[in-house]
Amino acid sequence: MAERRFSEDELIAEIFAPLVAEGGFGLRDDAALLPLRGAQEIVVTTDALVSGVHFLPDDAPGLVARKALRVNLSDLAAKAAEPIGFLLTLALPPDWTNDWARGFASGLAEDARAFACPLYGGDTTATPGPLTISITAFGRATRFVSRSGARPGDRIFVSGTIGDAALGLGVARGEAFAERLGEAARAQLLDRYRLPRPRLPLIAALRGHASAAMDISDGLGGDLAKLLRASGVSARVELARVPLSDATRAAVAVEPALFERAITGGDDYEILCCAAPAACAAITQAAREAGVALTEIGAATAGAEPPQFFGSTGNIINFSRLSFSHF
Ligand SMILES: [Mg+2]
Repeated sequence: MAERRFSEDELIAEIFAPLVAEGGFGLRDDAALLPLRGAQEIVVTTDALVSGVHFLPDDAPGLVARKALRVNLSDLAAKAAEPIGFLLTLALPPDWTNDWARGFASGLAEDARAFACPLYGGDTTATPGPLTISITAFGRATRFVSRSGARPGDRIFVSGTIGDAALGLGVARGEAFAERLGEAARAQLLDRYRLPRPRLPLIAALRGHASAAMDISDGLGGDLAKLLRASGVSARVELARVPLSDATRAAVAVEPALFERAITGGDDYEILCCAAPAACAAITQAAREAGVALTEIGAATAGAEPPQFFGSTGNIINFSRLSFSHF
């Protein structure tokens, strides 16, 4: 006989309550209490994932949960905020199953533990539309690193490697270039698309030395343009310095047009930050101590025009669009 589906109370008490932090009162109160210490401020961010838009309906529920939490953690990392915890709102379509809920909660619990970011509360509701997951994450910071602090002359850095996730989506869609890559490269790109790496280890480096920062979610090109606009500056970027993984290099060797997608495609969840020339050695050193690669790719300049991208011979490269946009 098929297992009876959880009632809303059972879903909350059996599936989600075991994940709850002390201040969440076992999901039995109206609201939660967030712990604060000393002179810290609370940093808040939210991100929603919609089935069919941000993930596929048959993606493993545990992976979907982990991605939903990680994209929020990436925003906290960019603001130099240590995670405190999160709220979860789940809108479930008519065909949800207990197994889906169990898989989702188990992935969520795994990452909540791994990133010390427990659940504090939330809401579950039915929806006639696609499954929707909304997470609001709270962090604590002693210095909020905004997007608007970059000044002319500041150096521009990115963490990790750029473009892997955008090409990983191409692999997931079975695009022709994927057939010409080795199995290891395909797996690496796919993994970067499915499971972002929030750069929380960079928090101390950003707090101590960054003039501006944001996470790269919609593509390096467009997100850099956003940061520059917020700061009222322009920039020169040397494309040859943008860090690419071996897998992305292999894909670009197979199909050179993929380079533009690597620079302007979404889902990197790396950190884009700026530092004054006098702080460059310190931020680089702090990132090295944190075990995260931080690569200088250019410099902010006076002016309000969009960033200029230069190729290896000093030629200007124009992209057809700078980033992913939902609308
Ligand atoms: Mg962001």
